[in-house]
Amino acid sequence: MEWNAEQQSLKSKYYTVGYDIVRPSAAERDAKINFDRVLWKKVGDTGLFGLCMPEEYGGAGLGIAEFGAALEGFAAGCQDMGVLVTLVAQVALVQSALVNYGTKEQCETWLPELISGEKLACFAITEKGCGSDVRSITTHVDRTENGYVLNGKKWNITNAPVADICMTFGKVVGKKEKSIACFIFETNNESIKQSKPFDLMGNRGTPIGEIDFENVQLATNNRVGKEDDGLAVLYFSFLVERVLTGILVSGCITPLIQESLQYSLERKAFGKSIGDNQYVQQYVVDIETKLELLKGVIFRALHALEKGKDCSKLASIVKMYSAEIFHESSLSAMRVMGNYGYRRDNYYERLLRDAIGLLFAGGTAEIHKRVIWDSMVKESKNENTKRENLKLSWTNVLAEAHKDNELEEA
Ligand SMILES: Cc1cc2nc3c(=O)[nH]c(=O)nc-3n(C[C@H](O)[C@H](O)[C@H](O)COP(=O)(O)OP(=O)(O)OC[C@H]3O[C@@H](n4cnc5c(N)ncnc54)[C@H](O)[C@@H]3O)c2cc1C
Repeated sequence: MEWNAEQQSLKSKYYTVGYDIVRPSAAERDAKINFDRVLWKKVGDTGLFGLCMPEEYGGAGLGIAEFGAALEGFAAGCQDMGVLVTLVAQVALVQSALVNYGTKEQCETWLPELISGEKLACFAITEKGCGSDVRSITTHVDRTENGYVLNGKKWNITNAPVADICMTFGKVVGKKEKSIACFIFETNNESIKQSKPFDLMGNRGTPIGEIDFENVQLATNNRVGKEDDGLAVLYFSFLVERVLTGILVSGCITPLIQESLQYSLERKAFGKSIGDNQYVQQYVVDIETKLELLKGVIFRALHALEKGKDCSKLASIVKMYSAEIFHESSLSAMRVMGNYGYRRDNYYERLLRDAIGLLFAGGTAEIHKRVIWDSMVKESKNENTKRENLKLSWTNVLAEAHKDNELEEA
C-alpha cells in the first residue's frame, strides 16, 4: 500500500511546512529546552492540527490517513521531535478523545482554539508512582453538588509546563476501583500548579513536566464521556497515538536513508567510496529494510483504525517496532557519517537522543508485548477483541459526531 494522490500532495505540502518553519530553529530549542508558542501558532495557521477534525470546529474534515500522510511529510521536513511529540500529545490524545467522546458543546468549547494553535493542551495520566500501570493512579475526584473536586499530581507530562488546557484522569471516590473518569479544563486556575520543563536527555524542544491539582473545582461538563469511560477514552487515544507515532518515526527515518546513502557514495577512504564496503552498506540497507517493514504494518493499522476495528495488536506492533528501529536507524546513520554525524551542528545526534525517549513515551516495549500477547491469546480462542464502550471508527466519528455523546448526570 502507498499514500493516494491526495495524501501524497498533503505529505509534500507539510514537508515544506516542516522544513521551512520548524527545522531552522530546532537545534536552538533543543539546546535551550525551549518551546516556541509563536512557532506553534504558525504551524497551526497551516491547518495541520485540524486536518482530521470536523469542519464545524475549524478542522478540514479529512480522515486519519490524510492526517497521517501530512504528519509523515511534516516529520521528514522538520526533524524536530520536540514539536512532533507536542503535536501527537495534543492531536492524537486530546483532540481525538474529544471528538470521539466529548459532547458537541465540549467540542465547540475546546477544539477551535486547539486547532488554530492559539491554545495548547496536555494529556495527563502518568504519575510519579505509576507509568505503565495506568489503573493504579492515585489522582481522584470527589463528587460535589455541582460537579467534582480534583486532587492529584501528574508527572512527566508532555506540554504540562505551558499547557492552557489539560485533559486528565482520576478515580471517582466511592465507586468501584476501576472507575476512572476523564476531565478537561483550563489550567489558568490557582488550584493548578505547572512545573518548569524537566531537563531530559532528549525531546528537549517539547516541554515535559509536572502538573498538580489541589482541590480543583470542576463542573459536570468538564467531564468527558460518562463517569466510567476514562479507561475507554484512554484506550482509544492510545490507539491513535501509537499509529501516529509510527508514522512520525517513518517520516524522521526517511531522510536518514537518503543522506547516509549519499554520504556513503561520496565519502572516500582507502581510495574508494566507503559505500563500496559491505559493512557500510549494511547500515544503510538495514534502515531501508526496517522502514519498509514499518510502513507495511502502519498501513494495515491505519486501515483498521479507519474501519473501526479494534487494532490494539497492530497499533502496539507499530509503536514497539517504530521505537526500536528509530534509535537503531539514527545510530546507523551516525556510524556511516563518522565524525560528521557526531557533531551537534547536525541533527543526527539530537535525533538519537530523542529516539531513546520513544522507548518509554507511548508505552514501553514490555507493555506492548503484553498487549500483543493478550490479543494473540484472544484470537486463538476466537474471542471478540472489541472492548465494551470502545468506539473505534474514525469514519464514524466524523460522520456521526456527538449523536450519542450527551453527558449523563452523575
Ligand atoms: C518523551 C516522553 C513523553 C511523555 N509524555 C507523556 C504524556 O504526555 N502524558 C503521560 O501521561 N505520560 C507521558 N509520558 C510518560 C510515559 O507514558 C511513561 O514513561 C511510560 O508509561 C512508562 O512509565 P514509567 O516510566 O513509569 O515506567 P514503569 O511503568 O515504572 O516501568 C519501568 C520498567 O518496568 C517495565 N515493566 C513495568 N510493568 C511491567 C510488566 N507488567 N511486565 C513487564 N515489564 C514491565 C517497563 O516496561 C519498564 O521497562 C512520557 C514519557 C516520555 C519519555
